Amino acid sequence: MNFQLTEEHLAVQAAAREFAQTELLPGVIERDEHQKFPAEQIKKMGELGFMGMMVDPKYGGGGMDAVSYVLAMEEISKIDASASVVMSVNNSLVCWGLETFGTEEQKQKYLTRLATGEIIGAFCLSEPEAGSDATSQRTTAEDKGDYYLLNGTKNWITNGSTASVYLVIAQTDVEKGHRGINALIVERDMEGFAIGPKENKLGIRGSDTHSLMFTDVKVPKENRIGDDGFGFKFAMATLAGGRIGIASQALGIASGAYELAVKYAKERKAFGVEIAKHQAIQFKLADMATNIEAARLLCLQAAYDKDTHADYGKSGAMAKLFASKVAMETTVEAVQVHGGYGFVKEYHVERLMRDAKITQIYEGTSEIQKIVISRELLK
Ligand SMILES: Cc1cc2nc3c(=O)[nH]c(=O)nc-3n(C[C@H](O)[C@H](O)[C@H](O)COP(=O)(O)OP(=O)(O)OC[C@H]3O[C@@H](n4cnc5c(N)ncnc54)[C@H](O)[C@@H]3O)c2cc1C
Repeated sequence: MNFQLTEEHLAVQAAAREFAQTELLPGVIERDEHQKFPAEQIKKMGELGFMGMMVDPKYGGGGMDAVSYVLAMEEISKIDASASVVMSVNNSLVCWGLETFGTEEQKQKYLTRLATGEIIGAFCLSEPEAGSDATSQRTTAEDKGDYYLLNGTKNWITNGSTASVYLVIAQTDVEKGHRGINALIVERDMEGFAIGPKENKLGIRGSDTHSLMFTDVKVPKENRIGDDGFGFKFAMATLAGGRIGIASQALGIASGAYELAVKYAKERKAFGVEIAKHQAIQFKLADMATNIEAARLLCLQAAYDKDTHADYGKSGAMAKLFASKVAMETTVEAVQVHGGYGFVKEYHVERLMRDAKITQIYEGTSEIQKIVISRELLK
């Protein structure tokens, strides 16, 4: 067993760290406050290869492994989780889904532009009444011969107003249940497609989350991903990899808060000494560091499983379940270490605490991760 990162891994990690510090840190507080999408920063992330990291270079991607992706996601998320969710959705859900299950024509038409970050994508599964219970799709894709007629509403869609390509899950044959669901590639300018207002959120406020409405949108048959009825399997397979991205986002939020807490504890004085000299603070830092290290190992294990073509359903779910818990606990403690200063925006930890919560909710809530894990254990 080798826990050593390769030269390439270290280089990716360093590049992501440098980018986050120089390009994402300035303005992160203002973007959060005004819910401003980090458009320029995402463009640069595309130019640096962060938007299609694992995609084959022949489709414009970086050809990197999932371990590199985890390392980069951690560094970007330490500073700006709103930017890292855009990166995660584009890499793990949209690019991976298209590269793994799309036709050659779909890859040439869409993936090549998504992998370079020229355009970004969105993954549209959730509905007003279908979140955890994703089989209850009300959006319909009626088979009309050479096209599908798409009708319905999707909720909470990340990159909702900024994407150019949307992977939409919809029910074609109700009688067949989840085997009657399809995944369709919808373009932003297709007639009948409308974007709802932006959600005003607790955290990841720089990311843009919208509901989407489809009214008689004609989606050509060649835009279906996989065979007829493959849509639900497509969504589940894609989300299994997506969890590794969100687990690393949670890891980054936790380690970002921890690093700020260590720095502050060495600077702030109380009772004549730096607060880092008080054992109560030292123990908080020790717990944070231990939990973060365990979360990092779970994330890397899941990425390694993916890279070695082992089953990563359970390890990915464990990584997300644990890392998101650690993100929540660590950020709350980081605010505590900062005292009153932790409660105001300039010190960053309150934002990290708000951002941490979403990692326990999207791409499968913590309760759903436990269902996934226990199902594997009891097979
Ligand atoms: C900011 C944000 C961005 C998002 N981005 C996207 C996106 O890009 N694409 C997309 O498709 N979706 C997206 N989502 C949706 C997200 O994935 C769902 O909100 C999530 O899956 C939970 O669904 P729900 O909100 O309907 O909650 P519900 O499913 O109604 O769950 C409510 C509560 O009940 C629990 N629960 C439900 N079923 C069970 C069960 N069987 N056993 C135990 N507990 C259960 C849940 O864990 C939760 O605590 C996003 C959501 C947010 C808030």
